[in-house]
Amino acid sequence: MTARVAIFDTTLRDGEQSPGCSMNPAEKLRLARQIEKLGVDVIEAGFPIASPAEAEAVRAVAEEVRGVRIAALARAKEQDILCAGRALKPAAHAVIHTFLATSDLHLKYKLKIGRDEALKQAVEGVRLARSLAPEVEFSAEDASRTDYAYLLEVLLAVHEAGARVLNVPDTVGYSLPAEYGAMVEKLVRDIPTAVISVHCHNDLGLAVANSVAAVMAGARQVECTVNGIGERAGNTSLEEIVMALKVRREALGAETNVRTELLAPSSAALSQVTGVWPQPNKAIVGRNAFAHEAGIHQHGILANPLTYEIMTPASVGVGETLLVLGKHSGKHAVQSRLKALGVNIANEKLDEVTKRVKELADRQKFVYDDDLLAFCDQEVERRAHLVRYQVISGMGVMPTATVEVELDDQRLTASAIGNGPLDAALKATDAALGISLELLDLHTRAVASGKDAVAEVTVRVRHGDQETVGMAASTDSIEASLKAYLSAIGAARRAQVVAA
Ligand SMILES: [Zn+2]
Repeated sequence: MTARVAIFDTTLRDGEQSPGCSMNPAEKLRLARQIEKLGVDVIEAGFPIASPAEAEAVRAVAEEVRGVRIAALARAKEQDILCAGRALKPAAHAVIHTFLATSDLHLKYKLKIGRDEALKQAVEGVRLARSLAPEVEFSAEDASRTDYAYLLEVLLAVHEAGARVLNVPDTVGYSLPAEYGAMVEKLVRDIPTAVISVHCHNDLGLAVANSVAAVMAGARQVECTVNGIGERAGNTSLEEIVMALKVRREALGAETNVRTELLAPSSAALSQVTGVWPQPNKAIVGRNAFAHEAGIHQHGILANPLTYEIMTPASVGVGETLLVLGKHSGKHAVQSRLKALGVNIANEKLDEVTKRVKELADRQKFVYDDDLLAFCDQEVERRAHLVRYQVISGMGVMPTATVEVELDDQRLTASAIGNGPLDAALKATDAALGISLELLDLHTRAVASGKDAVAEVTVRVRHGDQETVGMAASTDSIEASLKAYLSAIGAARRAQVVAA
């Protein structure tokens, strides 16, 4: 039998507490809508007592996002709980999430109260919360470092007072999976009528492992964040725990309600709001998570994805497996990239192009779309090629760009202004080609450092329900962006989904 594990998303609360990830109310609302679509069970929208803007953001999310439970955080203090109750007033399904530390370390040095006083405050907090909201969750902060007998005493008392969900955070990311799982197992046995929830931090890189151990021990709610953002080293990564439960469903005997094909788009939506992208090798949503460079892997993947992939890119919403062409790439990889670009070439020509890819890769490590297309030039029609561009930008100057593009032997030029130099250059490109596509993602990474720094840019665009990807590199990041953008547009034109 497969148990259902609730996903409690705290991207907008714990995640938002990570440096560089703060969000304004409008941004929170945008993300909340995306996370609702993802199919989580609870969205923790914020900590209303923190500031009026925070309370406003929680209220806006509660008002607009109706298909999921909305939680707000409150210390076990009257003013916090009342504030959370007010912010959640418009919610269709409100959850007040109140917390109090239970470890002796926190009681003695942070709260400066004894165990009896803490127990009393926790129970009073839960009672008040329960009078304001249909559902209450209680968190025993620093639970993993709390004496078990006392933890159980507090949790039994707050459960009795009306908290249905009992959360036992590994607040400082100290637990090991076996220890954490053992604690959860005892709680599930000792408080069978409660939902035991877990909230893990990643200080030792064990947040997901601890959460998996907890689910195996009977936890039925996992708190997590998109891209694993959060305090310090972050929280349990939503995409990783969800995919672990999906890919290893039979071993773990548990499942979630998450629509996994929205994982990558949700990750990108968060990064677009915060400007912080996951590291390239991040599981599930890192840009290299499905990129195979070794030739032997590339051949295997193309023959049957199961040879080297335990899940398909499509199952997590990644458009295609990105095969980066390098000196290890064989004919199959070259053919696959060309196909994605909408180009079909004859077999003998393919041998020649592959040879040239390897030669170039020896010199410059990776081979991008522009060079690849140049190698099969005669075969490639409908290719949009960057001839030159100029950008005027600076402080106190309106960014202006002029772009000249060659398209089917025609030279097209246009100028545009934008929010910044890149935006102006992309708009000028659209104007020159007379098109406008939805830019889903523009991602830059440095492929070398120091004076040899090269910006590698990947651009993903959408037209109707079809997506195409372009890649380019240059020492000039705007030039690389424009070339990648034109490559994606060229692919779309060859697929005949764009008229331009
Ligand atoms: Zn936390």
